[in-house]
Amino acid sequence: MAQVWLIGRPVAHSLSPAMHNAAFAKLGLPHRYEAKETSDDQLAATVARLRGDDVLGANVTIPHKESVLRLLDEVDPEARRIGAVNTIVSRGARLIGYNTDKYGFEKALEVQPRRVPWHEGFPFADDDILIVGAGGAARACALALLEHGNDVDIANRDPARAEAVARSIDVDGRHPRVVPWPRGRVLVDAVVNATPLGLSGEEALEDVQLPMWVIDLVPTAEETPLVKRAKATENVTVVDGLSMLLHQAARSFELWTGVPAPLEAMRAALPRPV
Ligand code: NDP
Repeated sequence: MAQVWLIGRPVAHSLSPAMHNAAFAKLGLPHRYEAKETSDDQLAATVARLRGDDVLGANVTIPHKESVLRLLDEVDPEARRIGAVNTIVSRGARLIGYNTDKYGFEKALEVQPRRVPWHEGFPFADDDILIVGAGGAARACALALLEHGNDVDIANRDPARAEAVARSIDVDGRHPRVVPWPRGRVLVDAVVNATPLGLSGEEALEDVQLPMWVIDLVPTAEETPLVKRAKATENVTVVDGLSMLLHQAARSFELWTGVPAPLEAMRAALPRPV
């Protein structure tokens, strides 16, 4: 039996163990996925333990996705470009970092109803999109949105961190633009909540009149207040964090095991249909 860990803080609420353990069971694999509550001070020691023979790797979540990079032997070029790692694969004594959040975000959006019938796949191109938050998830979303030809605004509680994202995320010389925290009417096509606001019942965009699309990354058993409000608002398309969670998890599973993820078994382990 080998283990896979979820390294972050807080992780007690995480839906990832149920999804990955359902996937291992479905394929008859004797592995276990386990959440490990990890403070900043414990991060280096926990990551060092991934070098053991009995560990396949880990997911990394809030708040360690950026700080973990310096503890790895190798970082996949896309994760390096994003500047954040959410998946570690343990190969022998070597630790390799990947980012599956970008893939999960793109996949979650691709399965949404088309905005324009002739536009296959990803629903945004040449649109204006606001991301709130400037951590690892925001970096992955910003890169995906820029690559698909959109303009990206970033607002963050700490504007210096948003400035760092704007400097380092670069698609052919195009960068996100830093804007103040939104209030009232926002003139964008979509807003992405890439903060943990919603995890404990708060509304991430309390004072904001919602645009046509609301993408809330927060993956909770109960719908977040933002998702509830967006669903109750006419003409707003809502993408729930569980959808991205499912797809990023499937990609991580494939990196650890080398076999296709049983997507339907993973989906069935989620508390709500996505
Ligand atoms: P990080 O720790 O890297 O970044 C967190 C971001 O949220 C920072 O910009 C931080 O701002 C901001 N933030 C934290 N607390 C508050 C607050 N009280 N008010 C305003 N802003 C706040 O985390 P991640 O980027 O990894 O994750 C962000 C969210 O996205 C989490 O909820 C996570 O669960 C979710 N996520 C969901 C995924 C999915 O598959 N559905 C995948 C990845 C992430 P500051 O810089 O000022 O501290």
